Amino acid sequence: MKNILVIYTGGTIGMVKDAKTGALCPFDMHKIYEVLPVLKKINCNIETYQCNPVIDSSDMNADKWLLFASLIKQNYSRYDGFVILHGTDTMSYTASALSFLLKNLAKPVIITGSQLPLGMIRTDGRDNIISAVEIASNDSVAIPEVCIFFDNKLYRGNRTTKINAEYFEAFYSGNLPSLAKVGINISYKQHLILPVPDKEFKVYDRLCRDVIIMKIHPAISKQYLDAVGNIPELKGVVMETYGSGNAPTKDFFLQGIKNMIDKGITVMNVTQCKAGSVEMGHYQASCDLRDMGVISGKDITTEAALAKMMFVLGNFDDKDKQKELLNGNLRGEIS
Ligand code: ASP
Repeated sequence: MKNILVIYTGGTIGMVKDAKTGALCPFDMHKIYEVLPVLKKINCNIETYQCNPVIDSSDMNADKWLLFASLIKQNYSRYDGFVILHGTDTMSYTASALSFLLKNLAKPVIITGSQLPLGMIRTDGRDNIISAVEIASNDSVAIPEVCIFFDNKLYRGNRTTKINAEYFEAFYSGNLPSLAKVGINISYKQHLILPVPDKEFKVYDRLCRDVIIMKIHPAISKQYLDAVGNIPELKGVVMETYGSGNAPTKDFFLQGIKNMIDKGITVMNVTQCKAGSVEMGHYQASCDLRDMGVISGKDITTEAALAKMMFVLGNFDDKDKQKELLNGNLRGEIS
């Protein structure tokens, strides 16, 4: 029998009706078998950990990611898999951050949530938890990855983006197909799943917080770029550009980016598109960025780029090493 630790962080999924008031409030995770007795039928032993306080995932931050990573570290040898219940709003950021913090992960870490609270009749939370636990405790396919399970699909977490605030199909992975699909059976696409590492599991305990996302838009101004460049202690900028990595060619823009790079700020170019890749040099509009030393994020998502920068700049001091890691594929986050 597999041992699974279910970690409840908060979000819509955990909301159930209070028996007295009828209002939706966070459920007591330790009563998971009471809320979902069907879980007893899965061939695993579930233990639970409830964060205190449980939070809406819009309050997610680096401290909490480090806490989740250390929780997995402390419990790594005792459990065969981990399921994290999390709000959907920042789920892709959390999945990305954990993927970098947990190096040589050999066990499944499946993050799930829901669009409708567990206490509502048509909730998607019920199926999401059941399938996430079933996948985490499966003994036919090794899933040594941080994944998101949502709406019958298992995704590599650091490839996802939340794309819908209304429908159950809330996540999208534009540059990597889902790793598994749940129907009558669970069909795993083994060739897409990362191999089981042969090196020792390592958990990092630092993240750089001086990193921002800057979205390029047609109204972008010199004042905006100057303001970003003057943020005290800023170390990294994830720059969301157009299409295959294009940005304005005007002098004020290029000078603004050059000023950041001259100050030692690392700039990574990622696309605003939900699929496809940055190809610096494909158009003139990105040649100058490449020549200045802007790093290509290739086909990384914005969420994963932010987490990768926080991870790399937080754990490695040498500039050349940082560049090498930011350019490389660390956890299957780029193709
Ligand atoms: N605001 C909620 C959260 O992210 C939404 C959800 O869980 O779906 O925590």
